Amino acid sequence: MNLHRLAELLRPSAHLTAVHFDIVKGCQLLCVGCPSASLKQTVRPLEPARFARMLANIDAREIDVFRLFNFGEPLLHPDLPGILEALARFRTTHPIGCVELSTNAQTVHWQSFERALAMRVIDRLVVSCDGDGTPESYEALRPPARWGKLMQFLERVSAWKTRHGDPALMTRTVVETAEDCRRWRSILEPLGWTPEFRAWKALSGAPENRTGRPMVPGRGVCTFLGKSQLYVDGSGAVVPCCAHPAAGDLGNLERDRWSTIRAGAARADFIRTLATARHELPVCSTCEYGPGHDPGPSAGSRSPEARPGPAHRS
Ligand code: SF4
Repeated sequence: MNLHRLAELLRPSAHLTAVHFDIVKGCQLLCVGCPSASLKQTVRPLEPARFARMLANIDAREIDVFRLFNFGEPLLHPDLPGILEALARFRTTHPIGCVELSTNAQTVHWQSFERALAMRVIDRLVVSCDGDGTPESYEALRPPARWGKLMQFLERVSAWKTRHGDPALMTRTVVETAEDCRRWRSILEPLGWTPEFRAWKALSGAPENRTGRPMVPGRGVCTFLGKSQLYVDGSGAVVPCCAHPAAGDLGNLERDRWSTIRAGAARADFIRTLATARHELPVCSTCEYGPGHDPGPSAGSRSPEARPGPAHRS
């Protein structure tokens, strides 16, 4: 890697296209395609006061999307309103285009959650739900999730939105065929949820690779290090990507400003190792993601609805 390219990757950016901020560092599900399921990280809620201190170290002027999750399940946080209060304060000085919260919809403290929704800080609520649109497939792919809980969440939040008008509701759903998409649409759209479909990604460290292709590791500095994006785990540690919860430790937002971490020695070392000795990084050595010009098949993996072919025409 030449010095000019390294300097480019270390240059602070006043504009972040996305922040992924984990507020619990752990999840109760063991989804087959998720690396978090292999790590079995303990759920550790981030105290709102610490969260506020970490936010104060995000020295970007503008953020397009602030996601209140990376790999943890945010509704496991016992004080979601406290977290949103801190984020709302931060937002008064740092414009955020959209605050998004993504949940697996399985554990909900309704009183606290409805208080959180009423604060109107969450602009977009996303539910992750995979499979072919049947209870059997959903529960097999996301153990120990229950279809009944998913439906209860979709219906109850839909009724909330009818009464209050927001937030925007969508799902992110991994499917395999156009028929899966049709089945999900027939369930979700009458309830006011807009589905976004994706194909399987092959993620390093996930219990299963369901893509149907062998995992071929990418080479060099992956596309994530070139993005103006920030990924933070539930302890304030800045991690390099949203393809794995702990591919590297680049610094901590409780201690340092984002611009310092971005240009710091730990991130520079990580980038150099990716460029010259990626095989030495345990997670990255088995990861499919490659550089921006050749990010690999998991990057932007399209939904079966978008693919031409017999399933699409039916
Ligand atoms: S190579 Fe893969 S695991 Fe490593 S930082 Fe990039 S996307 Fe994350």
